[in-house]
Order: sequence, then C-alpha cells, then structure tokens
Amino acid sequence: MNEYDVVIVGAGAAGLSAALYTSRRRLKTLILSKDMGGQTATTMDIENYPGVDFSTGPDLMKNFAAQAKKFGAELVLDEVIGISRDGQKFSVSTKSGKTYSAKAIILGLGKRPRELDVAGEEKFRNKGVVYCATCDAPLFKDKIVAVIGGGNAAFDSALLLSKIAAKVYLIHRRNEFRAENILVERAKQTDKIEFILNAIVDSIEGKDFVDSVVISTPSGKKTLAVEGVFVEIGQIVPSSFIKGLVELNDAGEIIIDNVNQTSASGIFAAGDATIVPFKQMVVSAGEGAKAALAAYNYIQGQSLDTATADQGYIK
Ligand SMILES: Cc1cc2nc3c(=O)[nH]c(=O)nc-3n(C[C@H](O)[C@H](O)[C@H](O)COP(=O)(O)OP(=O)(O)OC[C@H]3O[C@@H](n4cnc5c(N)ncnc54)[C@H](O)[C@@H]3O)c2cc1C
Repeated sequence: MNEYDVVIVGAGAAGLSAALYTSRRRLKTLILSKDMGGQTATTMDIENYPGVDFSTGPDLMKNFAAQAKKFGAELVLDEVIGISRDGQKFSVSTKSGKTYSAKAIILGLGKRPRELDVAGEEKFRNKGVVYCATCDAPLFKDKIVAVIGGGNAAFDSALLLSKIAAKVYLIHRRNEFRAENILVERAKQTDKIEFILNAIVDSIEGKDFVDSVVISTPSGKKTLAVEGVFVEIGQIVPSSFIKGLVELNDAGEIIIDNVNQTSASGIFAAGDATIVPFKQMVVSAGEGAKAALAAYNYIQGQSLDTATADQGYIK
C-alpha cells in the first residue's frame, strides 16, 4: 500500500522535523531520502542546537529520525526523481522504480556541494576527491592536498587541513577572495598553505587514487602532485527534478511564503533548499515544523495558517 497523507522528500533537519510534526498529527507520513541525516550527518561537532550541549551530526540526526518514527513516520532510502499532480493527490516516483501517492508533499531537499565538472572528478570521487573536509581531512595526514575555491568554506578547509596535511595548495580562479578577511589573514600566516591564484583546474589525474591535479595559470599549464583534492566551490539545491512544478529563484532555491507553501498548492518546502536565509539546523528544523503544520491544515481543508489553541500539542 503506497498511499500516504504526506510524503516528505529529504531526511535532514527540515524533513525529519516535519515528519515528527505530521506523524504526531496522525498523518500517515513517509520520508523518502537519498541518505539519512543530510548535511548535518557530515559533521562531527554540533554545539549550537538548542538543548543539546554537544553531539556528533550523525547521532543528532539518528535521534531526530527515532523521534519521528516513534509517532509512526516511515523512512525509505530512495531518490525522488519526479512529482506530478494526480487529481486531488500527488504521485511521487523514485529511482528504484516505486510510486507513492500523497495528499500533500513537503520538500526538505537541502543543498549539496557544487562540482567542478572536470575530467577525473567523478572517477576519483572518494578516492582523493573530497567534498567535506570536516569529514575526511584526517585521512590526509602528512599528505599534500589541494583545496579549490575562494570562499569561507575553502578557507575553513585549508586551515583545518594545514593542521593535518604536509602541505595545502589553495587554488582559486580569481586573485581576490570572497572569504572573510580574518580567514584570509590566518591562511596567509600559515606556512603550510600556498596560494595559487588565477588558476583553473583542468583535470584530476591518477591511477586508482588521485596523484595530481592539472591547472591552467597565466604562465601556462602546471601539474601539482597531490593526493587529495578538496572541492569547496559552493553548494547547489538539487531542485532540477521539480523545475516547472514549483517556482524557484535564480539560485535554484524554492520560493515559499510565510507558511512554507510553494507556488504549487499542496506542495510545501522547508530548510536550506528554500529562500529562507541563515542555513542552519535550528532554522531548518523550525521551518520543517511550520511546513508540517501548514500541510496538516491544507489536508484538513483549513486556512493554512490557522492557529488553534492546541496547535502543535496534540497528544
Ligand atoms: C560540514 C557542515 C557542518 C555544519 N555544521 C553546522 C552546525 O554546527 N550547526 C548548524 O546549525 N548547522 C550546521 N551546518 C548546516 C546544516 O547542516 C544545514 O543547515 C542543515 O543540514 C539543513 O537541513 P535541511 O534538512 O534543510 O537539508 P539537508 O541537511 O541538506 O538535507 C536534505 C536531505 O534531502 C535529501 N534529498 C535531496 N534531494 C533528494 C531527492 N531528490 N530524493 C530524495 N532525497 C533527497 C538529501 O539526501 C538529504 O538527506 C553544517 C553543514 C555542513 C555541510
């Protein structure tokens, strides 16, 4: 039986919080997600989630999921590849070939790292090509690595790696940085970091694992011997499969109103994937709760922002 009241796409802070709220409202809830925990599951240090002094990301997300499951939410690991309107309901199709029906949809798609799109990147993914320095920096102890990018994330990664790796090349396509000055100054004072500016990555090379990166600089092509390539060139919303279904801004973020309704009636969105600023866990979790309550009101046929005395407190 693949019929649900609500299908939530994404098991990050937004999707799992939404699931807690919809399942506590006795809505039959399914979470479909490519992975468990989203971006939070890629960090080992969370110390700014209220009420939780310290947690690893994976542990905190496991607690989010367990709490939602306690109230009946189901979680299936699968990628959603299409959503279409089917009369009064929605039809949701997944990569594994399954189809689910729902009265309302909540999108908690989050963000994922932008790729370089160069030869060798896909081949050496997790074999030297890394998108999360916090997760994988320890694997590069005493090795030579390259960080690609010029924003805060690139500098955070380079500074972290400078404490672990033998040497860090910071490769940036411009000669100025988007990163905060304080980070740039710290990196400039760190002997192990060498800046290579006005340089574009042409390819990532190796046999079984990365052994070099080829770059184009104003003085010609260069091959740098590195065992790790940390790609830190920003993030994108994985929203291509919903283009045309809901309105997106130029950055691909989902446009929502103050109760998380997208441009399509019955489809709600929350978290990093939306236009809401400050991409943080606590923000995503709160937005997930709002989307869930609005979806509940939608299914009940009530005004979306109806606030009742027991809003959110149903036992
Ligand atoms: C390294 C790192 C450290 C961080 N540290 C902190 C911190 O200390 N404190 C803090 O507050 N924030 C931190 N953040 C930010 C925080 O993790 C995000 O704000 C939060 O994860 C956003 O939650 P979300 O649910 O909106 O999206 P995400 O966590 O990105 O989750 C989105 C989910 O949707 C799934 N998904 C996407 N598309 C599909 C699809 N088509 N089908 C199925 N599933 C799909 C993804 O697989 C993922 O599970 C950190 C982020 C990173 C990367």
